[in-house]
Order: sequence, then structure tokens, then C-alpha cells
Amino acid sequence: MRTAVGLVVCLLLAGLPTAAAQYDPARTHAWPGEPIDNHVHLTWASLTLDVNNWAEDHPDVVSLTSAGTSELGKTLWVVRLSDWSMDTKPNGSAKEIVYIDGGHHGNEYLGTALAYLTAKTYINGWNAGDAAIVETLQNTELHILIMLNPDGNDIDTRWNINQVDLNRNYDHYWNTCPTTQPGSSAFSESETASNSAYMNTHVTDADLYVTMHTGVWIMLYPWGKWPEQPPDWELFHFIRDDVHEQVSLIPIQNATQGLYPNCGTSRDYGYGVMGFPTFTFETDDEQFVPGSFEALEDRLGEEMDVMHYLIENVWFWRARLSVDALEVSEDRISATVHNLGHASTANATLQHLDEEGNVRWTSPLFNVNATNSTTLTFEANPTWIDPDGHWNLNYQKRVINAATWVNETVDGERVLLVESEEAGLLLGTGLFHPMTSLLGVVLIGWARGRRKDIIV
Ligand SMILES: [Zn+2]
Repeated sequence: MRTAVGLVVCLLLAGLPTAAAQYDPARTHAWPGEPIDNHVHLTWASLTLDVNNWAEDHPDVVSLTSAGTSELGKTLWVVRLSDWSMDTKPNGSAKEIVYIDGGHHGNEYLGTALAYLTAKTYINGWNAGDAAIVETLQNTELHILIMLNPDGNDIDTRWNINQVDLNRNYDHYWNTCPTTQPGSSAFSESETASNSAYMNTHVTDADLYVTMHTGVWIMLYPWGKWPEQPPDWELFHFIRDDVHEQVSLIPIQNATQGLYPNCGTSRDYGYGVMGFPTFTFETDDEQFVPGSFEALEDRLGEEMDVMHYLIENVWFWRARLSVDALEVSEDRISATVHNLGHASTANATLQHLDEEGNVRWTSPLFNVNATNSTTLTFEANPTWIDPDGHWNLNYQKRVINAATWVNETVDGERVLLVESEEAGLLLGTGLFHPMTSLLGVVLIGWARGRRKDIIV
């Protein structure tokens, strides 16, 4: 489809003078030095100038760092974008983290271009006072490693300088699929070792990782190794359906089904080892279209819309549990837990801790499905309650084993006591003193979403 459109554009423009493609400085998203993507590509030297200028000109929003160097010693620049006047969101909570890389394959310019355009779009939007972009950057850190394979990029080849396919060199079932040139061992190449070190050091809590390529117009989620859907299939399917409904009809599939079995990829590593929701964004049916005069921002406009969607909704790409009501009686503890995120979680527990922080009670494990509400009932005789203690909720942000753990304190105002028939059971002071116990069952509303009752 897109190939056909591209050909039509080529044919239509074939008779036009080249002046029609002259650089328009108002086109702020245009490819640096070239307004067209006719295989005139960004060199590492040019990128180096650009990213340093961005950092120098816009220190309020651009922080430049390096993930390491290529095999030939070229710096792997990471452009970090956020409102750096604040370490946290305006409400004091931690900012969401998004990780993006481009250019694993040095001849896939449109993939590298999408990473570059993503960075430039957010910088330009910030400087223009675009309300949505300003809000995003107040609440989010974007870490964008635009060109992972500068040695291969500069000589127009898929491989790195050692003739290794970097996107088969990651330590996730490395070299267990039919493939070519995966390297001598996992992370044998400085580019992939540097990328994984950056993931493990600076963006461990990312709630989105997009790795950008080109050659097929498709977005691929894990797994490449297996044809089965990943444990967080609900999250990936939600994003697929919502993107199709709201943004673009780009195909979004499990990588094995959408492409072919592939192992040792950054996508499977990002999800299987780091626990990130991960997409390989293949930007176009063609790796390049020689002679095309279509401006890059037009060429990748729809893809940028998808990136805006993924970034601006990153808050939802995890389980996000909220205890709406926690009710304690003489023989049971009931909790109504709402999941505000679009990922399910397993292995969750509720705990009571005393004033010193010692765990006095831990519930059995429970699950909460994506965008759902669950009422849990635990049989217990809570004589262990510390009136000065508190309740904690522990859970993983996603179902995948590698997902980050969250430990959150339950809002004390959500904790309710049911008066005991047998005086003395819930002895204590303050909230837990019998005189201050609440009569009957009082619940705080939790009207949102579907509900189900579980006896654990
Ligand atoms: Zn590629």
C-alpha cells in the first residue's frame, strides 16, 4: 500500500523541477541538511554536531549524555528530554521513563530518522510552548539513543564494523534461531553491550521501549523467539486496538507472526530481561526510495502520530493498583483494588507493617487484571494489628517475570474497621480503639470498571 503510494508520488514528482524540493526552513522537522529522504542520510559527524547544538541551545529541556562508544570509538549519544527544572512531576511523584533507540542496522535510515524526528519534535514543541508537549515533558523523561550503529551507518551497511548483526547480539536466547552473523557471543559488540548497560543503569524503570528500524511497515511486540503471545498480551492487544481505532492502521503483531522467528533482539531483551513494554517500530515498506522528493515529515508523519500516542499515554502501560477500600473485621480482611493501568499484574500481596516497619501479616498472592477492579477477601484473625502501623501493597508492574516491583503504602483514610461483636478483639488506640471503630460496613465507592469477587 505504502509502496504504491510512494511510487505514485515518485511518478507525479518526476516531471517537476528540483526547485520544488528546496529546503524550507519553516519545516522544523525536516531532515538535517536535506529536506528529502532520497538516501541522503545523517552521518555520525552531522548527528554529533546536531545533538551538541541542541544541548547547548536548550539546556532547560535537553540533557546530552553517552551510552558508550562504537567498536571504532564513536560516541553513542543519548538525548535526554524533560523539564529539567524539576526532578519530579509537578505533583511530586516520579516521572515516567521512555526509552527509544534507532539505527541498529546502519542502512535503515528511516528508522534512524524516526528516532531523530522524535527528539526534534519534542524539542521544537517545548520551545514553541505546545501545551501537550510541555505537559508530557513535565511528567516524562525521554531517553533517545538515535544512532546505535554509527560505524555501520557511515558506510551504509546493516552490520557493525565487525560484520555482526547487532539486533541478534543481545543476551536473550542468543543464537537459538536460524540467523546470520549474531556475533561470537551475546554482547560481544560494544554497541549492544553499551545499550544494555544504559538500560540497566539509567532507565530500569521504563514503561515504554521503542526500537526503530525500517523495511516492513509494521510494529512488532514480543516475542521474536516464540510464536506464542507474551504474558502481557492484554497490554499489547489494547495498544494495538487503540492505535488502530485512534491513530493508524499500521499492522501490530507478535514479532514471530509479523516477521519471522528472530532471537537475541533488543526487543525480546527489553521485554524478557528488562520487563519493558517493547515495540520494534518498522517504519516503512522500503529501506529507502531513491529519487523520492517526499519530505521526511510527510513520509513519517503517521509514524510520529503513533509515537505521540505511545509517549503521551505511557502512564497507562503498566499495572497501577489503587486500594479503594480496605476493611478489617474480626475474622477477615477485605480489599477492593482497582487497576488504573492497561497491564495485568500477578504475584501481588497486601501487607500489614508495624510502626517499626516489621511485617506482621502478608496476604496470599493475588492477581488484578488490566483495567479491572477486584474485591479480595482474606480469612484472618487480625490480633496482630499495630494501631500505629500501616498497610502496603506489593506488585509487579506487568506480568512478565522481569517487570519492576512496586511497593506502595495504602492511604490510611481507605482503611476501615468493622466493629467486633466480641469487645476486645481490635484493642488499640486511635483508629483502632473500639470507641472509635466504625459501625457496620462502610465502603468507599469504587464504581469504575468490572468487578469480580475472589475468595483467596
Ligand atoms: Zn532493522
